[in-house]
Amino acid sequence: MIFNLFHSCLHYLMKPLVDVGINGTAMADGMGVVHHVHPLLAAYAGDYPEQVLVTCIKSGECPKCHALRNKLDDSESFKEPRDIQAVDDALAKVSGDYQIFKRACKQARIKPIAQPFWDQLPFLNIFQAITPDILHQLHQGVFKHIISWLVKAFGRAEIDMRCQRLIPNHHVRIFSGGISGLSRVTGKEHAMIGRVILGIIADIGLPGGFDASRLLRAVRVLLDFMYLAQLPVISMQHLSLLNEALSVFHQNKNIFVDLGIRDSFNIPKLHACIRKRCSSFCVLLRHGFFCIIPHFSAFISFYCFFCP
Ligand SMILES: [Zn+2]
Repeated sequence: MIFNLFHSCLHYLMKPLVDVGINGTAMADGMGVVHHVHPLLAAYAGDYPEQVLVTCIKSGECPKCHALRNKLDDSESFKEPRDIQAVDDALAKVSGDYQIFKRACKQARIKPIAQPFWDQLPFLNIFQAITPDILHQLHQGVFKHIISWLVKAFGRAEIDMRCQRLIPNHHVRIFSGGISGLSRVTGKEHAMIGRVILGIIADIGLPGGFDASRLLRAVRVLLDFMYLAQLPVISMQHLSLLNEALSVFHQNKNIFVDLGIRDSFNIPKLHACIRKRCSSFCVLLRHGFFCIIPHFSAFISFYCFFCP
């Protein structure tokens, strides 16, 4: 019901884009120079629940590829991209028998939404348009998980005491009440915790006689990944560093299983890191993506050359 209402409203709002996307329209830039432009929906930035809502997929699945929800946890779990043609074919059955429509949508692995807002928009593959999201996927996603796992691994008291003992310094926030009891933590606060967390846990022993080196390595490379992913421009070298960081994380993550903290790593936001490494190049993003794209060729060049 909510899904249909959301898509119906956006469908109405986006309707003018169908014609001008194909035929173009005159539009002035910031200097007052008039261009013939084709305004197209090229990217959709949102957190995971919003990605699920927009792409009509089922919760727990990847909005970009065909990876199964219980197979999201290895470093090579990025599967072939979702087939927009199969989805369009399923959606075209909406005017016929509802059971047939529902079955077709199930086969295409989407929810039976009567009219997704994007189905008439020109040159759009909604699955490719979903962008990486540093705030929700990394700071408020993967890193939030990591903090809760560290608190379980080392204990609330130890983590909080070490936070309180930090020496005041520039660009370091002292969490005088510790970090384990924080609620509604903002992305900025997670970024602040990221600056000091490695120093806090560096020499704590793990219970049960486990060697902490695997855990430290997993946290360190995840922080590397987060900082690399935030660079305004990503080169081929950065891309290989992203790959390396992710693969070292996957080699060491099982320490959390050995400690009894996790059973698996089927976490969509963690899986999103795999696709982030390939989509970073084409969808970067924070500074320049939401600009006016003057020609079709410019738009097409935004598609990822690295995704399969
Ligand atoms: Zn995927």
